Amino acid sequence: MISPDDLIQLSALQHYAFCSRQCALIHVEQVWAENRLTAEGRIMHEHVHDEGNESRGDVRIERGAALRSLELGIIGKADLVEYHRQLDGSWQAFPVEYKRGKPKPDHCDKIQLCAQALCLEEMLGQRIPAGALFYGKTRRRLDVDFDETLRRATIEAAQKTRELIESGQTPKPVYSKRCESCSIVGECMPRTIQKKRSVESYLKRMLDDT
Ligand code: SF4
Repeated sequence: MISPDDLIQLSALQHYAFCSRQCALIHVEQVWAENRLTAEGRIMHEHVHDEGNESRGDVRIERGAALRSLELGIIGKADLVEYHRQLDGSWQAFPVEYKRGKPKPDHCDKIQLCAQALCLEEMLGQRIPAGALFYGKTRRRLDVDFDETLRRATIEAAQKTRELIESGQTPKPVYSKRCESCSIVGECMPRTIQKKRSVESYLKRMLDDT
């Protein structure tokens, strides 16, 4: 159990799963830049949260739900949690996270959603088998099963994210395809830093050889 005074942001798990350097730049160095991508994402989230709670037949909808897990040591919000009425009259929680773009090849969005489910399980005392990611570009929902593999990956991401933030160290950049869709590529400067590092190590090798 982690102390309530020592919780990290749930969104940091998504940043870590995407790129550990991005996570450290945002959560250790507090680097953040509003750009077109982040502005679109922010407006989308605000729009979802602003719509308020509602009931539609056998579905209740809670927007901007506060979440916390002392097991994982995280705190945050769910864009939306649906509660589906079951045959026995109980309500089954089903988290839905909104994303600006389209489904990604990696699991970072699924890890964020699963972390929300694990928070809800701890808070509500019920097993949550599935949720969904809604992507603004495709305007479609992607159902996500919280299977054992995803649960393990999420728990591991929470541990590694905490270790990274507590270390206070920012990993060096490694340029890859994901940098093209990174919201803080301008602040990270992966190509420039990587080039500088390779020039430095070349010069060091030259000096060592002489
Ligand atoms: S630009 Fe690339 S290396 Fe830098 S934070 Fe983003 S994904 Fe990571």
